[in-house]
Amino acid sequence: PAENAHDTPLLLKRLLLSGIRYEKTREIVYRDLVRYSYATFNERVARLANVLSEAGVKAGDTVAVMDWDSHRYLECMFAIPMIGAVLHTINIRLSAEQILYTMNHADDKFVLVNSEFVPLYKSIEAQLTTVEKTLLLTDEAEKTADLGNLVGEYENLLAAASPRYDFPDFDENSVATTFYTTGTTGNPKGVYFTHRQLVLHTLAEASVLGSLDSVRLLGTNDVYMPITPMFHVHAWGIPYAATMLGLKQVYPGRYDPELLVQLWQKEKVTFSHCVPTILQMVLNAKAGQGLDFGGWKIIIGGSALNRSLYQAAKARGIQLTAAYGMSETCPLISCAHINEELLAGSEDERITYRIKAGVPVPLVEAAIMSADGKLLPADGETQGELVLRAPWLTMGYFREPQKGAELWEHGWLHTGDVATLDDFGFIDIRDRIKDVIKTGGEWLSSLELEDLISRHPAVREVAVVGIPDPQWGERPFSLLVLHDGQVLDAKGLKEHLKPFVEQGHINKWAIPSQIAVVTDIPKTSVGKLDKKRIRTDIAQWQAA
Ligand code: ADP
Repeated sequence: PAENAHDTPLLLKRLLLSGIRYEKTREIVYRDLVRYSYATFNERVARLANVLSEAGVKAGDTVAVMDWDSHRYLECMFAIPMIGAVLHTINIRLSAEQILYTMNHADDKFVLVNSEFVPLYKSIEAQLTTVEKTLLLTDEAEKTADLGNLVGEYENLLAAASPRYDFPDFDENSVATTFYTTGTTGNPKGVYFTHRQLVLHTLAEASVLGSLDSVRLLGTNDVYMPITPMFHVHAWGIPYAATMLGLKQVYPGRYDPELLVQLWQKEKVTFSHCVPTILQMVLNAKAGQGLDFGGWKIIIGGSALNRSLYQAAKARGIQLTAAYGMSETCPLISCAHINEELLAGSEDERITYRIKAGVPVPLVEAAIMSADGKLLPADGETQGELVLRAPWLTMGYFREPQKGAELWEHGWLHTGDVATLDDFGFIDIRDRIKDVIKTGGEWLSSLELEDLISRHPAVREVAVVGIPDPQWGERPFSLLVLHDGQVLDAKGLKEHLKPFVEQGHINKWAIPSQIAVVTDIPKTSVGKLDKKRIRTDIAQWQAA
């Protein structure tokens, strides 16, 4: 309304408008199947809004999506919240039982299902308590599926709908998106974000990625391809930033390393983001052997980035920058920024900082807290729980007030991570509280040990967990994946770690007494080391 014109609500629709103003004809690409301009994209968002409204979706309803990364997903990321509904990005890598739990818990009313997930959907359909209608997403010629209360197939419905929609203004504090944490302990928990939170997150993300030190990760000429699934914290919110800036965007569908490399080459991708394990897969892809990935800037987050991976990527031409965040934080919290003082230092020192969690981005406040709620000094040495404040942190867990209150104890969001903060403003994540190894009365960071072990030339992947020990409380146990044709035993690993003990990086209790060489390390639904499973399954490797 005109009387509130000075008080424009921060709604996602305002991000959508800017991209088309800058670059009307720039392309949004889906695998080798679809390619269209921003002008078409905007029309399709309006068509989708019409389809959903005609199907009965109302403001406040939750609309869920089960899809791989696609242009359709991007359309949903805008159209669903823009009509006032809530987008639930289903983590399709969870077990069927967990997916069922999240869908009932979130009150999903409408579900958009990719044909690949129809069997999965059918297996839980009878137990879904809130779903009223479904919509089919497919790349196949067959445009129908055996889904209950099927409204129709996405493309057919869009083609028949009007390309105009008058998106309303409403309260910027309306919830726009929701999704569930990966639930490595207990049931998955629902986090949620408002329009205002997503708009501020997008602005901060675009501004910081566009201005970081010498790297300048994101400019309007970059070509963007996510390699973090869109169901994992909205692909870290970067599709919103890319759309706002009018970037060429490339959506790869299901992640197949060979196809990722082909798309990178064909579409001239310059900017991506992923967790370390996915990058490792890309580096190992057959299609990429002998290729120079020069000019590819990749943000690594979700897990610690170690020096070996940084260097392996660099040797292939890829510039890595570490970032930190979590589902509860929308996710962006910090990103490595190498300031003038660090730039003047040695290469080795710069890498030390490039692989840390980084400096808080604009509007984020970070602190270190003791177990009894006291703020601790940011001296680069004192360890404590990393706690946060920012405009875009989840306000709680959906329908879990007790857990939400714990998350926000003492007025700060508790990350569950042990960290230090230093003079440069850098956050250094030492470990997750639950993964710290307590040995001989000392705390040992499993992340630090993994970093040191990964520097052994035979090591391709490593995970370290604490196992109970009658004498020491806990002792580190190391699971290793080796490069083809390499060998390494406990003695060899000890030789490798000795210099780090001598230089005082770790004490000698940190040297794992037990190791197991395996072909695969258990991973979570988003490709992180699954330490919980490693701990529960440990007997199988101890025996081996
Ligand atoms: P989950 O906890 O189920 O894996 P998240 O995706 O929310 O789900 O993971 C967030 C966690 O990932 C953080 O709390 C932290 O432990 C870890 N993490 C994220 N980024 C980094 C990083 N740059 N360095 C170290 N750990 C990280």
